[in-house]
Amino acid sequence: MSIKKRSPKIPLIKKTVDSKPFTTWGRAHYVSLITELITISLLFLSPVWVGFLWMSCTHYQCSVVQPVVDLYGASSSINTFIAFITEKLPPVTSTANKIYFGWVAFQVIMYLYWPSKIGTGQQTPAGHVLKYRVNGLRVWIVTHILFIAGSLITGAYSMSIIQQNWGSLMISANILGMLLTAFAYIKGNYFPTHPDDCKHSGSKLYDIFMGVELNPRIGEWFDFKLFFNGRPGIVAWTLINFSFAVAQYEQLGYVTNSMILLNILHATYVLDFFYFEDWYLRTIDIAHDHFGFYLGWGDCVWLPYTYTLQSHYIYRNPVSLSWPMFVVILSIGSVGYYIFRNANNQKDLVRKHDGNVSIWGKPARFIRTKYVTSDGEIHNSILLTSGFWGISRHFNYVGDLLMCFSFGASCGLQFDVIPYYYLVYMTILLVHRIYRDQARCRAKYGVYWDEYCNQVPYKLIPYIF
Ligand code: NDP
Repeated sequence: MSIKKRSPKIPLIKKTVDSKPFTTWGRAHYVSLITELITISLLFLSPVWVGFLWMSCTHYQCSVVQPVVDLYGASSSINTFIAFITEKLPPVTSTANKIYFGWVAFQVIMYLYWPSKIGTGQQTPAGHVLKYRVNGLRVWIVTHILFIAGSLITGAYSMSIIQQNWGSLMISANILGMLLTAFAYIKGNYFPTHPDDCKHSGSKLYDIFMGVELNPRIGEWFDFKLFFNGRPGIVAWTLINFSFAVAQYEQLGYVTNSMILLNILHATYVLDFFYFEDWYLRTIDIAHDHFGFYLGWGDCVWLPYTYTLQSHYIYRNPVSLSWPMFVVILSIGSVGYYIFRNANNQKDLVRKHDGNVSIWGKPARFIRTKYVTSDGEIHNSILLTSGFWGISRHFNYVGDLLMCFSFGASCGLQFDVIPYYYLVYMTILLVHRIYRDQARCRAKYGVYWDEYCNQVPYKLIPYIF
């Protein structure tokens, strides 16, 4: 089928859908030996790394050098090493298990039964279009009100309860994260929700890590990806920060402006996520990533423990920022947020209105594309080439990275590793994602993607990358 009619906005693309093997797209099928080795390392080292970060903050005021020196010293014999680890790691406690599993159960109930709007996901490679309960903002508000009111009215717990049990909660979160990974792998292999959207790479370890199922569900509405990312992960994010702020108040008698600034910046990001939860259904996490260790364990452990490291840092190292510095950091974070939100909105709007929108005061420019789902159906889509999407192919990531910088700078201007850890991590994650996305979109859109890359040649920052 050739494309004969085109509007003036559509570039000339001579090749056709039929002439290009648009057969399969979605997660990578072939896994190289190097990828497999990296996968094994990440499976084993990620929990160790999170434990190490917790230990550094809890026992070494968030220094990362001294614990390495001590670990090296303790490794002279297996007995001293085990004694060191046993002394430093948090205990398993029934209190933490009750808090953690009670919290997750509460979130499951809220997710399934609290009144909700219904959102629509992106078309999957097999052609499914799923519906989602998107009640995150309401649940976030109710959860925070209950947490604060429960403490103030009953006096049964302090709002620093999360900080007080932070180490043992990490063990509980790991238990759930590991169980979830095993469950996701078994479910993907033996009773998947949509068998035609499962992907097997040929490497069991890679499948455990990246997942087999695209959209595992129980029943019609319990969606593992949306639930675990949003609820134990992102609702918890602001609660954790808040709990560290209260702990700081209990420790010092006041809350530093750095802690307040960090809470504001993180809360903006979190509230944005829930306010635009419907938009989130069309991001890579939900639309394209499969559910395995990466998302399952990552949402239970990695996200709450590494994304909140800065509030742990400020709790251990209280710093007060000068007010001009406070304003500068807030401004950088706000500019980052402006780019992040507007870039993401532009992409969403142009597709929602089939290109009939104005961007930066001019009619949107875009490429009309076609792609094929594995049921053989041909579909149409749009790749925006103006606004932020005309500057580079992932300018939304620049906004995110500016925000990440502002989170780190909130911890003060002394150079330390932990405050900027999140910036480094996000840079690696997003650059890797650019390459992953490039391969997936190339497979999905073929010549249309090539045309898009011709029109928007830079991946992230014009003239640099
Ligand atoms: P994008 O929102 O950039 O989505 C990429 C997808 O959008 C592509 O796969 C393609 O999907 C579609 N697309 C690509 N180019 C265009 C275009 N020109 N016009 C229209 N559609 C296009 O990526 P992410 O999902 O990774 O990121 C979403 C946001 O979340 C970002 O702002 C990012 O910074 C943030 N993020 C935050 C993370 C965190 O942990 N805090 C982690 C990752 C991301 P298709 O065509 O198949 O629909």
